[in-house]
Amino acid sequence: MTTMASCRNGVVPARVLAMASPCVLTGGVVHTMVAGAEPAQALAWADGRILAVGTDQQVTDEAGQDATVIDLAGRTLLPGFIDAHHHFSGAVIDSVAVDCSAAQAPSIDALIERLRAAAADVPPDQWLVGVGYDELCLADQRHPTRSDLDRIGTSRPVLLHHYSFHEGVLSSAGLAAAGIDRHATPPRAGIIEHDRAGEPNGRVIETAYSGAAKLAQDSFLRAQPDDFLAGLQAYQDQLFRVGITRVCDPLVPAEVETLYRTAHQQKRLQMPIVMLPGSSTGNLCPPWDRLDGAITGEGPEDLRLGHLKVFLDGATRCAISMSLGQLGRSALGALALAWRARSLSVLHEAGDMSFRLGRDLQVRSGVRYLSREQSRDLTTQACDRGFAVAFHAIGNDAVDQAIDAFAHVGSRHGELPPPRIEHATLLDVDLAKRAADLGICVVSQPSFLELPVFQSMPIPPGLRLLGHRTMLDAGIRVAGSSDAPVASFDPLAALRCAVSRRTAEGQEIQPAEAVSPAEVLAMYTREAAYATGSLPVCGTLEPGKRADLVVLNADPCTTHETLDALAALAVERTIVGGETVYDADSQ
Ligand SMILES: [Zn+2]
Repeated sequence: MTTMASCRNGVVPARVLAMASPCVLTGGVVHTMVAGAEPAQALAWADGRILAVGTDQQVTDEAGQDATVIDLAGRTLLPGFIDAHHHFSGAVIDSVAVDCSAAQAPSIDALIERLRAAAADVPPDQWLVGVGYDELCLADQRHPTRSDLDRIGTSRPVLLHHYSFHEGVLSSAGLAAAGIDRHATPPRAGIIEHDRAGEPNGRVIETAYSGAAKLAQDSFLRAQPDDFLAGLQAYQDQLFRVGITRVCDPLVPAEVETLYRTAHQQKRLQMPIVMLPGSSTGNLCPPWDRLDGAITGEGPEDLRLGHLKVFLDGATRCAISMSLGQLGRSALGALALAWRARSLSVLHEAGDMSFRLGRDLQVRSGVRYLSREQSRDLTTQACDRGFAVAFHAIGNDAVDQAIDAFAHVGSRHGELPPPRIEHATLLDVDLAKRAADLGICVVSQPSFLELPVFQSMPIPPGLRLLGHRTMLDAGIRVAGSSDAPVASFDPLAALRCAVSRRTAEGQEIQPAEAVSPAEVLAMYTREAAYATGSLPVCGTLEPGKRADLVVLNADPCTTHETLDALAALAVERTIVGGETVYDADSQ
């Protein structure tokens, strides 16, 4: 980015941006993301805070003679991207695990081979962990089992995480360590799968999975806390490369919160983090154990506690409700999809779900973590103690349950941060209106459109998958996020998904739900700041706010005529608290 680094006195190295005298960026397209505001040309900051935004003349005048002036040469300046749902700590923990995604391990044999090769390097007191398998992408078109994992030939417990992080497979030693045998009763919202002989086959789902995942996670954090802290530093650099300047970690058990605080005290964490407290009894379990601890808003501005995180449904086993007519038309849709794909995996997946007919003649499927009474009770207790609440709700029935709980507490839920629903991946127009009326904001993941599960899923008629247009038109404030490592964390990739509604294979999904680049930019800046309670300090470019900035090579709002133009968008510089943390030109 040589032209950007040229200034009155010649070339300015990136580190100059860290100096206390004011810095000015001029000659750009500055989207302040203040609602309704026209683009500005220039921005100045000092000591990590924005001093002025306006025309080149206004801003250089305000910054004074000593300011370092840098020419943007027509580039686009935005508030740094905020990822409102990104498993930052989880991704760091997983970075020491064996990558078993389809690109690395296209079959169960390949996956076993990779795990076997890695086993020798895992300390004896730790679990051997693999991450990222997706049965739809395996040549075998099935989930691995304990007997597959036992072929690795290690005495260590083995856990293979599904890419969704809502289920996994345990080896025989893993099952034993988790106390699961043929007589084990699964916890509420947990599933232990069995083989024909009645023995656990290794597959554990939802809370039955999260208990085992917790043991594996603890074995790593206890043995190698320094590796975790170093991992945080390495990982944040990857995020700076794509313009992310703040992350909301949506699942932080107490022991991970302690490690985050250590990293913050040791100044090893430059990425501002909002931590959503989650249960320490198992990542997916209801967080009753956190109610007596620190509450929403506590902590320094760059490592603050956010909403209490509460799971309402599963992931691929999300809580769906539909009428008999909708069910019939979905079944036809599944047949058509299977015919088109010439694959029975779609029907196989559908066969994995059990349907129940209720007295209201609605057919329900999926896993539910809490009864309606329990979710109301937990929300009431949380709000009375000073927590805002974020519900994980993927299916429309879980979204309905979340709305019900927020309606129950009414104004007892504070305004900032607002009540949150994570995902709302499947909803209808009526749910969107009810959520909007209650001021609920939805934290969505546009890059989910690229997940294979949605390419093979018949969407029940009337339901919107990642219905951004429906939500925005209903008046919901929608925040952008990735749910990484479940999906890609690149906000510009998410922008392409939300604008084009295309999957990785180019297939269009519900194109009427497309939104504009400007709307996606708002989701990843102002709206994500709002959803995380961070709007007073970031999310728009206004004097007094943090100088968290991103420079793009072009303006997404005027270059979106073709997908090629969107594909050419790139981050050129990322600035956190006034300091350049990524510069494409120095790579
Ligand atoms: Zn998540």
